[in-house]
Amino acid sequence: MEQPRQTVLAVDDSLLNLQIIVDILKEDCNILMARSGTEAIRIACSEPLPDLILLDIVMPDMDGFEVCRRIKSIEKTKDIPIIYLTGMSNEYDEEYGLSLGAIDYITKPFKPSILRARVRNHLQLKYYRDRLTRIGMIDGVTGIPNRRRFDEIMSLEWRRAIRSSQPLSLIMCDIDYFKNYNDTYGHLEGDACLRKVANKLCDLLKRPGDLVGRWGGEEFACILPETDIIGAMTVAERIRKGIIDLTIPHVSSPIAPVVTVSLGVTTMVPQAGQDPIELVRRSDEALYKAKRAGRNQIGVVSDQQPLLPPNPK
Ligand code: GH3
Ligand code: MG
Ligand code: MG
Repeated sequence: MEQPRQTVLAVDDSLLNLQIIVDILKEDCNILMARSGTEAIRIACSEPLPDLILLDIVMPDMDGFEVCRRIKSIEKTKDIPIIYLTGMSNEYDEEYGLSLGAIDYITKPFKPSILRARVRNHLQLKYYRDRLTRIGMIDGVTGIPNRRRFDEIMSLEWRRAIRSSQPLSLIMCDIDYFKNYNDTYGHLEGDACLRKVANKLCDLLKRPGDLVGRWGGEEFACILPETDIIGAMTVAERIRKGIIDLTIPHVSSPIAPVVTVSLGVTTMVPQAGQDPIELVRRSDEALYKAKRAGRNQIGVVSDQQPLLPPNPK
C-alpha cells in the first residue's frame, strides 16, 4: 500500500529557521508552520491532525517543553510524535525533553540529510501505527467499526449521557434466517450481503454522534445519543424498510423473498452507578421479542410508554 503524503507541523519563533525546515522537507511531506507555542497547540488540535511535530524549545511565549507537555495531555493530540529541534545540546535538557513523551531530539546545527532521514523514519513509523490502529477498530468484512470500537464509543456516550441526563438509545439489528442464506448462496455471498446491510445502515444513520458497528456474526448495533424511544423506533422502522428496499433475494427465507432484519430497540437515561451492559441486555431482550413475534419487525423494551404502536408495518 502506498504511503499517503503526510503533514508535519514545524514550530519555531524564527521565520528563517522555519524556512530552512520547509526547504529540507517540502519534497517529502506537507508542512504547517507555527511561530509560537500557543499557535502550535491550536494547529496541532485542528483536523486533520499533523502526523509529526518538529518543536523548537526556546520560544518567547511558551517553551517547547511546556508545548510538549500540553500536547501529550490532550486526548486528541497525545499520540502525535514530537521531535525537538533545538540549539540546547545539554544532555539533561535532552533527557528531560524525552521524558515528557517526545520521540526524538535533534540539536542545531543539524545536517539537512540527517533531519530528512529522521523525519522520514518517524513518518513511516507513524503511518504503520495508524494502520494498525485502524485495523484494530474496523471490521474486516464490512469496513464498519468492530466490536472493540463499538464498546469504546458506547462507554464514551454512556458517560456523556450521564453528565447531560439525556436519553441514549440502542438498536440491535439481526438478519433473519441468515444461516439459510449462507447455506443457499455460500459464505462469500453471505459476506457480500453483510456488506450491503452494513452500508445501508450507515446511509440511514446520519446524525452526528450516531454510530453503527458490527456486533458480531450477522448482528449490527446502532448507538443513538440524545434520542428518546420514539426517535429510536422511528429510526428502527426506517432501517427495517431500508433493508427490504435493498431487495437482496433470499429464496430460503420462510417469511419473505428478500433479506429482512429484526430489530431490538431500547432507550435509557443512564444513571451513575449503572453499567452500559444493561442497555445491551435490554436491546437483546427487545430483539428476542421481535424474533419470537415472527421476525421482520421491531421489538421494544422501554421504561417509557411508547406512543406509537410497537410494530408499525
Ligand atoms: P434468525 O432469524 O433467528 O436470526 O436466524 P439466523 O439463521 O439468522 O441466526 P443463527 O444465529 O442461527 O445463524 C447466524 C448465521 O450467521 C450463522 C453463520 O452462518 C452466519 N454468519 C455469522 N458470521 C458470518 C460471517 O462473517 N459471514 C457469513 N457469510 N456468515 C456469517
Ligand atoms: Mg444472530
Ligand atoms: Mg439472524
